[in-house]
Amino acid sequence: MTDYTTILKKTLKDPIAKDEALTLFKKIQTHGKLMDLLKVASKVRDDEVGSKVKLMGFIASITPCTVDPPCRYCFRWANERLFNIDDVLSDDELEISMRVVEAKGLKRVEIGGGTYLGEEGRKMTMHKLNIACKTSRRVGVWITNVSFNPEDVYVLKDIGVEGVTCNLETLNEEVYKRLRPGLNLTIRKRIIEETEKAGLGIDNTLMIGLGEYWNQQHPYEDWVEFLYYFKRFKNLRIMEIHPFRPVWNSPCQNMPPGSEFETIKAIAIARLIYRNIDISGAQSVQGLLAGANLIMHVYPITKGFRPWSRHQLFYSKIVKLDEDLVMVDNLLEVTRNAREMGFEIEI
Ligand code: SF4
Repeated sequence: MTDYTTILKKTLKDPIAKDEALTLFKKIQTHGKLMDLLKVASKVRDDEVGSKVKLMGFIASITPCTVDPPCRYCFRWANERLFNIDDVLSDDELEISMRVVEAKGLKRVEIGGGTYLGEEGRKMTMHKLNIACKTSRRVGVWITNVSFNPEDVYVLKDIGVEGVTCNLETLNEEVYKRLRPGLNLTIRKRIIEETEKAGLGIDNTLMIGLGEYWNQQHPYEDWVEFLYYFKRFKNLRIMEIHPFRPVWNSPCQNMPPGSEFETIKAIAIARLIYRNIDISGAQSVQGLLAGANLIMHVYPITKGFRPWSRHQLFYSKIVKLDEDLVMVDNLLEVTRNAREMGFEIEI
């Protein structure tokens, strides 16, 4: 097995190969070795995409979720109002949201919602996306609700959508079935394949620690498989890597949260594989050190009940945009680390 330092030296110029990614996951097991990895990943980010941090807005929801049973780690277990029909923005609220996103200077926005199965879900998704894209042609719309069929991505393209986020989170079929028993991994893969053929952007998420138990060996092979699965898609534009978070009251509430150490390693290794795509995580010091250059969920806009009472993820002020529509004014909060570390912010 090649020494990890040899791989790190070589990857200053060239992307790492699959076996090298696995070696890095296995060999980087101390803080000193992590620092070596982060230094190289930061340099590759600076050389390949520069030190400018991009921002992605967030609007939700445009569809309820009818997946039954719900994914075993979903926020629906903690709050039954989430991804319920009352959580869906009206057409007017969506229009207001898009105007605000544009006025804030954001260049792209993720429009989210639950997986609304069947014909109703398709219709609602297309209807809402039509409104979003017509309201602003300057903001790139990325759809994340997966309430449509693989062949519908061509309709999404006609509507003016910029990209599709059809999150897989894991490619391990046993884990997928255990954690997301109401969903079909094969259909999700087909949506990504059609997205590629349609020429739309691809965004995807690897969830570190999904389905893992305490004392279990980290499934490094699975993570490497996941990262290299996307090599076949030339339209891969965004990679998100998050640790699993056990949701209160869910069947997973007692499972361990995903390892932060492994998450940072995975972000850095992703940067050594995918040199010039956007990688999320740039809101944290660790993410920036690992080569991230994208901050997700900037100025999130939702129904009023979502962020009230000082949301645990946000400390910023909440701005009322309409009767039952709010925005979390989090720009200064989420960009603070990047600004203080000397990165240029997109807006
Ligand atoms: S598809 Fe999304 S919203 Fe629906 S149950 Fe699964 S995680 Fe929750």
